[in-house]
Amino acid sequence: MNYIETSTGKWEVVIGLEVHAQIISTTKLFSAASTKFGDTPNENVTFLDAALPGTLPTINSFCVDQAIKTGLGLNGTVNSASFFDRKNYFYADLPLGYQITQFYHPLISGGYVEINADSGETKKVHLDHIHIEQDAGKSIHDMSPVKSFIDLNRSGIGLMEIVTKPDLRSSTEAAAFLRKLRSILRYLKTCDGNMDEGSLRADVNISVHRPGTKYGTRTEIKNVNSIKFLTIAVNFEVERQIAILESGDDVKQETRLFDSSTGKTKAMRSKENSHDYRYFPEPDLPPLQLDPARVAAIQKTIPELPDAKMQRLQRDYGLSHYDASLLASEKELADYYERALHGFESDKGLAKILANWIIGELFALLNRHDKTIEQSEISPERLRELASLIETNVISGKIAKDILEIMWETQKSPLQIVEENDWRQITSDDEIRKHIREVLADYVDKVVEYKGGKYKLFGFFIGQAMKKTQGKANPQTLNDILKELLDA
Ligand code: ADP
Ligand code: MG
Repeated sequence: MNYIETSTGKWEVVIGLEVHAQIISTTKLFSAASTKFGDTPNENVTFLDAALPGTLPTINSFCVDQAIKTGLGLNGTVNSASFFDRKNYFYADLPLGYQITQFYHPLISGGYVEINADSGETKKVHLDHIHIEQDAGKSIHDMSPVKSFIDLNRSGIGLMEIVTKPDLRSSTEAAAFLRKLRSILRYLKTCDGNMDEGSLRADVNISVHRPGTKYGTRTEIKNVNSIKFLTIAVNFEVERQIAILESGDDVKQETRLFDSSTGKTKAMRSKENSHDYRYFPEPDLPPLQLDPARVAAIQKTIPELPDAKMQRLQRDYGLSHYDASLLASEKELADYYERALHGFESDKGLAKILANWIIGELFALLNRHDKTIEQSEISPERLRELASLIETNVISGKIAKDILEIMWETQKSPLQIVEENDWRQITSDDEIRKHIREVLADYVDKVVEYKGGKYKLFGFFIGQAMKKTQGKANPQTLNDILKELLDA
């Protein structure tokens, strides 16, 4: 178990997340207004989104399909009948005065996400339920010193609220959960997972207690919008609660805000209870009844998900757990890898070289040019050609790095680049021996020092000999022959 130890003994941490995931859909949950991010304020607002009297909601069935797909992808049960409810509260950016949500009977019950737990084992983080609801608008307080503004573009956009059981035991587990959830949602194409734009944000419930006693009183940190912030906020809150309990006080059940500039949480309001919201069934919408055939049809559209893909990459291509989970974390990345390996699936050596080159050099290039894998200037087939040249010792890994850069700039085939630059690796013993002899003749004094015990000069000789061959010597052969000649 992962307990936190202080001078007074052990503490156990309990965390549950309520994740708001914006549904990928071109139109809103109950209106035909656009969901586009970053448009001019109040451009995408229908009478309904502005809550004009007399307007009535109609459910967007595509949004419902997206939520069903999410539920199935997260191993939940799709309820054949679910209902909408009104959650009443006053807020300037909530023109209706209530939010249409699902409270008593949500669309999806149960489900789970598997993560690597702190123990090193795989752990199921259970979901309580997933419901759909509409988003509120946005209040803007930093445009004028005396006025606030309201942008209703977000008002009415469809959200899925994914609520976990209190199954998480540390900030690392909470981060692992959110990372895995985001990866699955992106595979499903039901939420873009873009935390910067607020498409995915988490309310984080945290409590601490002594092992063997009942769970402590929790606080809830609202709207955490990055995985880094999640980690910092949980660690801060855990420390804060332990300090309170150790001083003999009680943790107050309250809603808190995370301030990313200080890394601290601060009290926002005392926690409201569900009865404060006066939930009641939404009279303007009929029950959401689902035909089993509709659910079955959606089930068929679920792609292979990250965990299954990761296991298959390990099994089929002999990749390490680390390489496989990195490549499987994004569907587009795994697709790139498998396209590169297409037709060469049984070549385990090539599979490993390709994985290394994607995770290492290609990632670095993509980062440098600020491109995603789908925008790579190097096609999977071309990268495979490069990997083959490395595998068959036509070129050294060192020269391959230069070749990769040129491939990015010119789209030429790696073989063409090798020929044009005369970059074939020198593997001939005789030729390499000749170059080493020259180096040893050039540095007779250093050879004497080496033989006198200054063995770290070995690297110097390697460097000089490599230079003589313009970096083209096979490193292993070079190493072996140098040793042989020096020790002779
Ligand atoms: P509420 O009805 O007040 O929203 P819920 O029971 O629905 O409370 O739980 C909300 C979230 O809080 C869930 O993600 C749940 O896992 C988490 N949670 C519940 N109890 C605790 C606790 N003692 N410590 C940490 N998280 C908790
Ligand atoms: Mg709740």
